[in-house]
Parts: sequence; C-alpha cells; structure tokens
Amino acid sequence: MSKVLIIGAGGVGNVVAHKCAMNSEVFSEITLASRRKIKCDEIAAEVKQRTGVEISTAQVDADNVPELVELINKVKPAIVINVALPYQDLTIMDACLETKVHYLDTANYEPIDEAKFEYSWQWAYQERFKEAGITAVLGCGFDPGVTGVFTAFAQKHQFDEIHFLDIVDCNAGDHGKAFATNFNPEINIREITQNGKFWEKGAWVETKPLEIHKPIEYPNIGPRESYLLYHEELESLVKNIPHMKRARFWMTFGQEYIKHLEVLQNVGMTRIDPIIYEGKEIVPLQFLKAVLPEPSELGENYEGQTSIGCQLKGLKDGKEKTYYVYNNCDHAEVYKEVGGQAVAYTTGVPAMIGAMMVLKGEWSGAGVYNVEEFNPDPFMHQLNVQGLPWKEEFNPILPHEDYY
Ligand code: NDP
Repeated sequence: MSKVLIIGAGGVGNVVAHKCAMNSEVFSEITLASRRKIKCDEIAAEVKQRTGVEISTAQVDADNVPELVELINKVKPAIVINVALPYQDLTIMDACLETKVHYLDTANYEPIDEAKFEYSWQWAYQERFKEAGITAVLGCGFDPGVTGVFTAFAQKHQFDEIHFLDIVDCNAGDHGKAFATNFNPEINIREITQNGKFWEKGAWVETKPLEIHKPIEYPNIGPRESYLLYHEELESLVKNIPHMKRARFWMTFGQEYIKHLEVLQNVGMTRIDPIIYEGKEIVPLQFLKAVLPEPSELGENYEGQTSIGCQLKGLKDGKEKTYYVYNNCDHAEVYKEVGGQAVAYTTGVPAMIGAMMVLKGEWSGAGVYNVEEFNPDPFMHQLNVQGLPWKEEFNPILPHEDYY
C-alpha cells in the first residue's frame, strides 16, 4: 500500500492514472500533478467515473526544483512517475534526491535546444542515487521500456548469447487526421528528423534521417514500410547485453505522414532553435505543436493496431536460433478501457508496472538503472495481467534475414 505521485497530465499521464487506480491494492493513494491543474482535474473525473477511485490533483512547474520538493514533501509519495516531457527529467530527479523518493520515467533527458537522445546526463546521477539509497528506473514505457524487458527475458530464457537485435515498431492505426503525432509532437518530430544510427561490430553507424527503409511483416497486420531510426534504448542495450553484434530499431510511417513531415521540414517548421517573430522569440517546432492535434485527443475514432516487438538471433547450446517476442495493442479497445489511444497505453501501462515492481520490491537497488538490468519475469507476468499480453515465436524465419 503506497502513495504515488504522477507528474504530467498528457496522453501517457491519463493512462498511468487510470492503471494505478485499477491497481489500488498497490497504489493506495494517487496524486496527479502537471503544469495545468485543469488537465489533472479532467483526468481525475474520468478515473472516478470509470473506476470509482478518487485521485488528488495539483499544479506544479516541473522545471522548478523547489516547487517539486515542496509538492513531494506535501504528498509524501513512495515513488514519482515522471510522464511530463524529457526536458523535466533532471529537475524531477534532483527533487527525488532531495526528498529521498524513488523515481521512474519513460524517456531520456533532452536539453531543450539540442536533440541528443542519450543517457549520459541521467547515468551521471548513479553515485548520488546510490548514496541517497533510492532507485531510479529509466525509460520504462514501451520503447524504451518493454523492448528492454523483452530483450532481458530473451537473454535469460532463450539464448546464451544474443548477437542480433531488431526492434520493430508498427502503428497500423488510422486516426482519420491528415497529420498528427501519437505522442508529444515536439519530441516525436525531434526523434524522427535526426540522423538514423545503429550499432554494428562495436561501433555506431550513422545514416541520414529515414534513409534506410524496408517492408517488414507484422503479426496480424501484414507488411509495412519500416524506417531505420536511432532510438534511445539501443544505447543501454548494447551496454547491458553482452555479445551484441548488431542492434537496430525500425518504425513504420505512412506515406502521408512522411509527405507532411518533409514539407514541414523544408519550410523550417521543425527547427528547434529560436527565431524572432513579431519582436518575440519563438521556437518553430513548439509553435507547430500548438497547432497540431493533441495526441491525447486522437483516441475517439482511432482504429487498427500497434505491434511492437524484438526479433533476436543468437546462440543457444552452441546452435544458432531465432526468437520473436511482441505485443499487439488495439486502439479502439484502449479507447473503451481508458479513453486514450494505443501509443499512450503501451507507454503508460509499462510505467505503472515498473512503479509496481519497485513498490513490491521485485525491482530494487540503490542507483540509476535501465529496465533490462532488472529481473524481467515479474514484469512480463504483469504485462499479461495489465492489458499488454505478449506472444512468442520460436525459431521464426525472420523475414528480414538480409539485415544480418
Ligand atoms: P503530452 O505532451 O501529451 O503530455 C506531457 C504532459 O506534461 C502535459 O500534461 C504537459 O502539460 C506536462 N508538462 C510539460 N511541461 C511541464 C512542466 N514544466 N511542468 C509540469 N508539467 C509539464 O506527452 P505524452 O503524454 O505523449 O508523453 C509523455 C512522456 O512519455 C514524454 O516524455 C514522451 O517522450 C514519453 N513517451 C515515451 C514512450 C515510450 O514508449 N517510452 C512513447 C511515447 C511517449 P501541458 O498540458 O500544460 O502542456
């Protein structure tokens, strides 16, 4: 029975709040705080209506450490779940250090003026979290998050050595809008417009943005054009999983999405450096975010499924083998359950499960950890219980053998 403080009331915050309320034997008291209290109150009303559970709400500027410390001291949570934006990771970690409260997030820290997608800033907190005797769980959404747990699970039960990893992420859903992003548009567009990168033979190989692409076959969905991107979990996985010869990340995009993105990029709307507009500084990408549909509002007519998984190849008992573990999630089912869409759901459910793992003592240890460093088994069990069931294929003929 523990108190939890959730920071961030967007699409993912909505799912985390619902799922914590549905597990009230673990999360006995829930507070949801964000920049605008009204968004927290709206979510609290929906949670109450769907689950009967009352949650408290608060206003906080998560860029401001003293404000965060004051809120944490007032709420006295056992863990803070950070589902605000990656810009707030370090301030929230600082506040957790000051108040000695466990920390969990779903995306690595990003400086506002640089798209980096790397863990260096957060890994630098290792000694301070150790000294404070508290746990920080980094990147506990789906990707990063479940993809790391899937890989650790494969390492534990299927392989002696994992040599090749392809994380394959498909959203085959249709929300009926000409252009919208499925999570925070600013972070999403920063991720896609940066150079691609993958790990091969002990070094990073860089590509131009969306330069490499191929059709990949997704279960229940069929073939979809998939683009090689750099994704942050590759950095921790190649460090934490030994013997890795190649690690890549693939994501699907429709032609309409790519067309809009290309135009927006060509006209300068995806820039993250400030420009002067009518005497005021504005960042074009932040302005673009303001005019795009809110990801949390996409759920209503969203149809189709997401499919995210890990395709692995390596050695077991001296023999080569392949293994594929994945989850498919249905947008319309998610809307019925929590009023959101599958991308927010596949992020928010694992965040809740990660917090549950820490509170139940299944995941423990003072310091800063990526999810693949913990025991994957209890987390994999909870995925099945909490709405993200996974499937396995043993020795599949991986459709993209030629990647190897
Ligand atoms: P949204 O933009 O929908 O929500 C972010 C929320 O954080 C908003 O409520 C926003 O407030 C609030 N917020 C922003 N700045 C502050 C601040 N300074 N102080 C307090 N609150 C603040 O994003 P999503 O819900 O789509 O994403 C949440 C996180 O999840 C992001 O970090 C994203 O990168 C991550 N993510 C991870 C995935 C994974 O699989 N690992 C996949 C998808 C997302 P306001 O409403 O006022 O703007």
